[in-house]
Amino acid sequence: MQLYSTKNRDIQVDLKQAVFQGLPEDNGLFMPNDIPRLPEHLLKNLPDYSFTEIGFQICKALFQGSIPDADLRHIVEEAINFPAPLVRLDDQKAILELFHGPSLAFKDFGARFMAQLMSYFNRNEDQELTILVATSGDTGGAVAAGFHKTPGIRVVILYPSGKVSALQEKQLTTLGHNITALEVDGTFDDCQALVKQAFLDHELRSSIRISSANSINISRLVPQSFYYFEAYKQLASPKEDVVFCIPSGNFGNLTAGLLAYKMGLPVHQFIAATNKNDVVPEYLEAGNYQPRPSVRTLSNAMDVGNPSNFSRMIDIFATAKGKGIPSNQGIWKDMNKLISGFSFDDQTTEEAVKHIFETYNYLIDPHGAVGYLALDAYQKRFPNTKGIILETAHPAKFKEDMDRIIGKEIPVPERLLELSSRKKEATAMSIDYPNFRTWLFDNL
Ligand SMILES: *Cc1c(COP(=O)(O)O)cnc(C)c1O
Repeated sequence: MQLYSTKNRDIQVDLKQAVFQGLPEDNGLFMPNDIPRLPEHLLKNLPDYSFTEIGFQICKALFQGSIPDADLRHIVEEAINFPAPLVRLDDQKAILELFHGPSLAFKDFGARFMAQLMSYFNRNEDQELTILVATSGDTGGAVAAGFHKTPGIRVVILYPSGKVSALQEKQLTTLGHNITALEVDGTFDDCQALVKQAFLDHELRSSIRISSANSINISRLVPQSFYYFEAYKQLASPKEDVVFCIPSGNFGNLTAGLLAYKMGLPVHQFIAATNKNDVVPEYLEAGNYQPRPSVRTLSNAMDVGNPSNFSRMIDIFATAKGKGIPSNQGIWKDMNKLISGFSFDDQTTEEAVKHIFETYNYLIDPHGAVGYLALDAYQKRFPNTKGIILETAHPAKFKEDMDRIIGKEIPVPERLLELSSRKKEATAMSIDYPNFRTWLFDNL
């Protein structure tokens, strides 16, 4: 498999390099040269395939021999070891629950798959690989759980002291084994600055192998395409005019949907659902893209003012025709045919959480509720469609808000309860690079 940079098609790397490097040097994003259509037998007979078999077939088609079949099957089975069930609300709407993994959010799919791929490509190295991650909360939890006990790889997580939720802190600091948490006396930006300096430190890098677990890594996108097929498979027939609605922040999830579409999934429409951070719905409406600082909302994992995957979305539509680069106007028109955008404020989102609970007896988290609203708005215009909302996190992850909105305590799953009784283990770290550097040399 070969990949190119969205900024320069002449920059070509193989899968292993794309996975370890994360980002091309020109600050573009890696995209596969080829996004092949899946075998017709699979597309026609999805119910005959298990979730992991679907994942394997997608990887086999995309990776084109980069990894032998038996190894690839093993990687998919290790990574995707929890289900993505579809729950029907009514004849029009269903919810795809993506929160059955260890950190209770869809990011588990990407983080676990990335961990397996890195471990595979790292297998013949004598020296341990260290993943450095700065987190403001959520991503760190998924990465920590994803890499937990992965052979040959250590993870060092830097998080801002006092600035992550109690639950998030437990997810970062209680795993042990190959996961180490550094509690930094500073902000998320300070954590990121420390990691950046380590990557620029040639002396450090010549004695310690480090890599990142960046959210724009191609290995996080690929497994997110699996569950679009898995959802479609679970729909009752006839499967006509299927619409996917994606609560979005950095637009990785929606981009993975576009991959699935290019690989042959018959999607009628994608819906980009956002909170007040609405640069993409605004682009779809007006045709110009104006990134700006994010604003804080109830659905805070979607508080993104300049979505990193937007350039991948543009790239997909720019290359769809296969010859030449179409005009910006042409890209916008084509994107508009396939993607509709909607945005909602917090008050409307809270009302939706309540409405869905009262109408369907279903607890949806605030991110999923934004998705529900967008699908509902779309189906007012196009009622004869079948809509699937991606539920990106478990409602108990946002217990305080949920309790307040619903007006009573919502139940918490066992694995979250169990977490709160575990002991936090973190090393205090100042924001001075020399300290961090010394720690790395002493501990790795
Ligand atoms: C990360 C996240 C999102 C946004 O996903 P993108 O792929 O960045 O668009 C939505 N909901 C939850 C709960 C998340 O953690």
